[in-house]
Amino acid sequence: MTATTPHWTPGTLITWRWGDVSGPHFAEPVRVVRDDDEVLAVWCAAGTPVLRKARADGLGIREDKATLFTAETVQATATWTGYDVLRVWPAGRRWAVWCFFDARTRAFEGWYVNLEDGHTRHDTWLHAHDRVLDVWVEPDRTHERKDEDELELAVAQGRYTRAEADAITAVADEVEAVVAAWGSPFCDGWESFEPDPAWPVPSQAPAPTP
Ligand code: MG
Repeated sequence: MTATTPHWTPGTLITWRWGDVSGPHFAEPVRVVRDDDEVLAVWCAAGTPVLRKARADGLGIREDKATLFTAETVQATATWTGYDVLRVWPAGRRWAVWCFFDARTRAFEGWYVNLEDGHTRHDTWLHAHDRVLDVWVEPDRTHERKDEDELELAVAQGRYTRAEADAITAVADEVEAVVAAWGSPFCDGWESFEPDPAWPVPSQAPAPTP
């Protein structure tokens, strides 16, 4: 990013949208915590209404993995429940660290490193692409990859080429190296973050059309 990149003021409600936004897609209203040339951090509170992709055949999104990446989808809404999440995207990285807090006890549960890239800013929304594979990091810093099987299915079902999947796996290698070194943003104290109590939980899911 350059010095002329506009930044959002903390407290601003923006929409984080995923994938092809011309059709059914995931999107969440999130509140900006920090936005500068180094990091974009946003808060997604439990109880937030969100957009979700649903299968047109009515099955749960992961219910038939043989058609996980090929099933026809429709736009649906849902409510994000159970956890408050602080998303921290270090500028330029192909991943973001999602700090999970139990919504009832406020206890920090761990870092979910979401492999995502292509972050593009628009006036009131951010666009990014989820890359299926994730890394979960426990508070004691032990970690494991999540959804490696789904990345393989993405290749088998034509979502990604083998080369693209290998590039995604290389990003997970990078994440694990940062974890091993306990680099930023893991070492930055985000697990102690507390939201402004004046922030209301968003009342409406994003409109399907940006
Ligand atoms: Mg993911």
